Amino acid sequence: MNRGSKAAVLVTGGAGYIGAHTAKALHERGLLPVVYDNLSSGFRDAVRWGPLVHGDVRDRVALGEAMAAYDVAAVIHFAGLIEVGRSTARPDLFWEINVAGVTSLLTVMRERGVGRLVFSSSAAVYGQGGRGPLEAIPEDAPKAPASPYGDTKLAAEWMIAAQCRAYGLTAVALRYFNAAGADPSGAIGEAHEPETHLIPLAIAAALGDGPPLTVFGQDFDTPDGTCLRDYIHVNDLAAAHVAALDADLPRGAFEAVNVGTGRGSSVAEVVKAVGRAAGRPVPHSLGPRRAGDPPSLVADPAKARRLLGWSPTCSGLDRIVADALRWERDPGYGSGVRGSAGRRKSPVAA
Ligand code: UDP
Repeated sequence: MNRGSKAAVLVTGGAGYIGAHTAKALHERGLLPVVYDNLSSGFRDAVRWGPLVHGDVRDRVALGEAMAAYDVAAVIHFAGLIEVGRSTARPDLFWEINVAGVTSLLTVMRERGVGRLVFSSSAAVYGQGGRGPLEAIPEDAPKAPASPYGDTKLAAEWMIAAQCRAYGLTAVALRYFNAAGADPSGAIGEAHEPETHLIPLAIAAALGDGPPLTVFGQDFDTPDGTCLRDYIHVNDLAAAHVAALDADLPRGAFEAVNVGTGRGSSVAEVVKAVGRAAGRPVPHSLGPRRAGDPPSLVADPAKARRLLGWSPTCSGLDRIVADALRWERDPGYGSGVRGSAGRRKSPVAA
């Protein structure tokens, strides 16, 4: 996008975890992030770098009005449901919001001539992993989502790709691996309700703010028997969105790009890293596998480097854990809204 001009970017779901970090990165890049969010799981306090338009992605009139009011040049689409477990219980809701929501967005973008989209996709499109059990996953690995959540991300990608071919929309789908960490400013961080993610749960256990962690499975075919995941710092993830907006792509291009480091960390390694950072061991017990957990999900990040000129700069496990821990100890400490909400209810949710 045109460097220097304060072009507006509509950030749907920009009051959530990754959306808020991306809004900050857009602001730092000289763009105006216009957050469009229904605040069903995001936080008003997390919207700091541009205006908030309260609206639902399925509301085409409100979407069109927001795009017109700010003369939006591009869209980054985060808004959607993310809990894999809930998607098996309520696939209807996931299709309604994650797929019909994208239909609605694409229709309005087409009507208004907004030609650039970055879409929040997921490694969940790969289901159980890549070609080999411990191999890094390239973008052309088989797509076999293992949940309705993954189905909706893949279906949305297909719809976006078709729209690119149909009329010249240019789009990048970023397939996130494991987003983690928090902005070092302390202004924003991760808060999900309910929390199901490993790093926040391990930190809560170490700080005595939550129950002991259960390590799900020790008999996977991995070096230490626990699952391998590719943890990516949320600020590296935010930078990937800015890079995807800036990428010099031909009109009508659709590209799906992995966002990960190419390095796997095991659950046991994460537990040790949290213990080191907290200065006390993480109370934990060993439990059975969680249904559907693949042994290893590690990105092949070569395409992101080649196409977007992006590579991670702050995704070492110790750095991720240190930033997450700072936030968990004192959420919102750099925000000026300290104490405005309950500890885990402060900004930001995804
Ligand atoms: N995990 C765990 N205990 C927990 C939560 C997660 O052992 O209480 C493991 C989970 O089995 C997976 C890894 O931590 O191998 C990362 O899980 P998370 O839910 O954070 O992300 P996912 O990879 O499922 O998207």
